[in-house]
Amino acid sequence: MKVVVIGAGVGGLTTAALLAKRGCEVTVLEAHVEPGGCAATFFHKGYRFDVGATLVGGFHPGGPHQIVGEQLGITWPIRPVEPAMQVHLPNQMITRWGDADRWRAERRRAFGVSAENFWSMQERAADAVWGFSARVPAWPIAAPHDAAQLISTIRPELILIAPLAFTNMRTWATALGARGRDLMTFLDGQLLIAAQGVAREINGLYGAVALDLYRRGVMHVEGGVGNLAETLVSAVKANGGQVLYRQEVISIRRGKPRACPAGERKTRPYVIETKRGTCEADVVVANLTPWALMKLLGDEAPSSVRRRVKNLKPISGAFMAYLGVDEAALEDEIDHHQVIVDPAQPLGEGNSVFVSISPHWDRRAPQGQRAITISTHTRVAAWYQLANDERAFEDRKQLYLERLINAASIALPKLKQHIRLALPGTPLTFERFTQRVNGMVGGFPQKSLWASWAPQIDRGLWLVGDSVFPGQSTAGVTLGALRVACEIERTLAAHLPGRDQPAYAEAIVTSE
Ligand SMILES: Cc1cc2nc3c(=O)[nH]c(=O)nc-3n(C[C@H](O)[C@H](O)[C@H](O)COP(=O)(O)OP(=O)(O)OC[C@H]3O[C@@H](n4cnc5c(N)ncnc54)[C@H](O)[C@@H]3O)c2cc1C
Repeated sequence: MKVVVIGAGVGGLTTAALLAKRGCEVTVLEAHVEPGGCAATFFHKGYRFDVGATLVGGFHPGGPHQIVGEQLGITWPIRPVEPAMQVHLPNQMITRWGDADRWRAERRRAFGVSAENFWSMQERAADAVWGFSARVPAWPIAAPHDAAQLISTIRPELILIAPLAFTNMRTWATALGARGRDLMTFLDGQLLIAAQGVAREINGLYGAVALDLYRRGVMHVEGGVGNLAETLVSAVKANGGQVLYRQEVISIRRGKPRACPAGERKTRPYVIETKRGTCEADVVVANLTPWALMKLLGDEAPSSVRRRVKNLKPISGAFMAYLGVDEAALEDEIDHHQVIVDPAQPLGEGNSVFVSISPHWDRRAPQGQRAITISTHTRVAAWYQLANDERAFEDRKQLYLERLINAASIALPKLKQHIRLALPGTPLTFERFTQRVNGMVGGFPQKSLWASWAPQIDRGLWLVGDSVFPGQSTAGVTLGALRVACEIERTLAAHLPGRDQPAYAEAIVTSE
């Protein structure tokens, strides 16, 4: 069975590797010259910078990456990070320990014991959901068999915490004693980076898990986060699949019905057109946003999906500062910092930043230096409005670069005098290198569990990546990929008995 995966992000590659392992003939088509998308690592003037993602979770027993690693026989190139990060508020600094006891002591010190009811409910809810997610539930439900699968994955502990799914994070946190400006700012900041929204926006159950990532253990990826994708590329190839670069897909359409032996259902393959040729596939997995998928489908997009995409609100982009810095700028070995400059102002646009420093044991910078990635959420429209005004665009870029460096200097006071290289990245940079429409990244804010995108778009056409539930992060897209791989395998077994068709590589070579 031929499967074409469009995009070599973590979601696409995970699906590709799982399906190749299960006997499908898999080809991944990637527009760029390297895999990883928003979780790639690029090389520039002697530094290896992480493009977007830097700190990854989901490798604990039952976590999405651990399940995939076990199924594919992968040893991930990771090392634990402890503490996960320091969060800098104007009044105090909070150390986010992974160790449960140290974290309990730290949060009591920072926020008082009156919030303990909230924290213990948050941990109880997260424990139940992590157990549930390890059974790869079919959520959101899109078909009757999803409901049956979902019911089989539910356990009593999940029912007890289910009411949190009907409220937002802020409402239930305050009801359980979470009060005070520092704690509310802390929750907003942490949820913004883990769930794309602040506490009053994020679904209560989703938020409880997003806050729990560090307690489950977070990791550095050796050589840079892009090595997760490189590891998955090797797994695709080891299982007989292929990953082709510089293959930007420009359209997906339905081909002519195939002649079938008597008694078998006719199938219409997909025809995938890249800038370099065309090929056919029984199944297409698009590692794209819904906006990008609609562009590729054009008039052939199902009308319900077209309507839904038309009504989507834009999501955030990211502004980045990639810095090469002398080690003298660093005072300790804490590699990740979240800085919130002014809690009275909206977070994002340089008012909250996430700083990641390459670890001392990893050679990602010239001797005596480190590679640093700093990010902040930004509205993409403002950048695109200036796209034709080079001067104004450059001014805005410099302003944001300064804002990010100023904010990061709160965590690293000696930073400014030790910067050797400063490279800004805007939403237009993301669009150019990761093909994200209008540079929108990170998936949809997880406001409602009922509004999430299910992965099946049409028969034989699937969406993976951070637009699909459970959304952003390498762990999130991996959980989504696990579900899609299982569903494709089940559908194929039911509808599409294997046939002999030319391999995709042959098709694309002859068309060049
Ligand atoms: C600034 C920033 C910081 C982040 N920090 C973290 C973090 O610390 N930890 C964490 O876990 N997550 C983090 N994330 C989120 C995480 O990076 C993403 O959620 C995840 O990597 C998205 O994976 P994806 O599968 O959706 O694919 P994407 O990363 O979107 O990759 C899609 C791939 O498809 C390719 N493609 C697109 N269109 C086409 C086409 N037409 N033809 C061929 N190829 C195409 C692209 O080139 C790209 O390689 C961060 C994201 C950003 C932007």
